[in-house]
Amino acid sequence: MPLVTTTEMFKKAYDGGYAVGAFNVNNMEIVQGITEACQEQKAPVILQVSKGARAYANHNYLVKMVQAAVENCPEIPIALHLDHGDSFEVCKSCIDGGFTSVMIDASSKSFEENIALTKQVVEYAHAHGVVVEAELGTLAGVEDEVCVESGNESYTHPEEVEEFVSRTGCDSLAIAIGTSHGAYKFTAAQCTRNEEGILVPPPLRFDVLEECIKRLPGFPIVLHGSSSVPQEFVKMVNQYGGNMPDAIGIPEDQLRKAAKLAVCKINIDSDIRLAMTATIRKHFAEHPDHFDPRQYLKPARQAVKDMVAHKIVNVLGCNGKA
Ligand SMILES: [Zn+2]
Repeated sequence: MPLVTTTEMFKKAYDGGYAVGAFNVNNMEIVQGITEACQEQKAPVILQVSKGARAYANHNYLVKMVQAAVENCPEIPIALHLDHGDSFEVCKSCIDGGFTSVMIDASSKSFEENIALTKQVVEYAHAHGVVVEAELGTLAGVEDEVCVESGNESYTHPEEVEEFVSRTGCDSLAIAIGTSHGAYKFTAAQCTRNEEGILVPPPLRFDVLEECIKRLPGFPIVLHGSSSVPQEFVKMVNQYGGNMPDAIGIPEDQLRKAAKLAVCKINIDSDIRLAMTATIRKHFAEHPDHFDPRQYLKPARQAVKDMVAHKIVNVLGCNGKA
């Protein structure tokens, strides 16, 4: 099947009590690792591209690689989504350039400015058969060019969501309930420690999520910054020459719980980066003589695939839903 929008995917996910994974793509190995896992698990998938990815790999290369994946995986629905579009122009160039979904992130602007810009993007997107994700509330953390200092994040105000959605016409809404971008989602001061001394992050604000669901029945909710930063990979990075002290993410059981509710799209990027980097570090440590990029990118691609398969089955619950 050709590239699809997220409309059908989200409807099925909402009714079925699962979420679709949205994974960021930057190069061929990442595209292949993600889509091979989805093909095997018969899972729908959203491949998303950030402004940083377009700057790194070039819009055309990314679109063509995704099109190749679509041809190679004919049985699963694949959407191509712009992650964190920050202007009408960026969204327009992706809509014109083959994307089936865009995000306009005007969450740092005032409520009225967010509505105005989102509405402008929605009108253009819908006229071209493309769907729009918008955002209310801000997440902490660092993701490509999005950087919000811890302490400057703000939870979504549920009393704003109905007005926002009805005035903008957006198709899905990213909300802030305590997830965060990057591999350092919380400072040690924000966490508690368990008996083994491992940092335990503050729980997600399910009360905010429930309030949003109540006000937007049937409407797909999106969670950004939802990597879990598995400690086995943090350990592996550190064991093989890396330095990632106190990297910490969102516990997978909380994301699983959100996926069973109205959360239809869960963004996962850092975990893929971490799995790739840990695997490459280990490979170099064990094979210091290797210099053919295929030698270390092959296991790295496999690590992406394994990570995505794990997320599909254990976090998203979208296996067999293609
Ligand atoms: Zn994000």
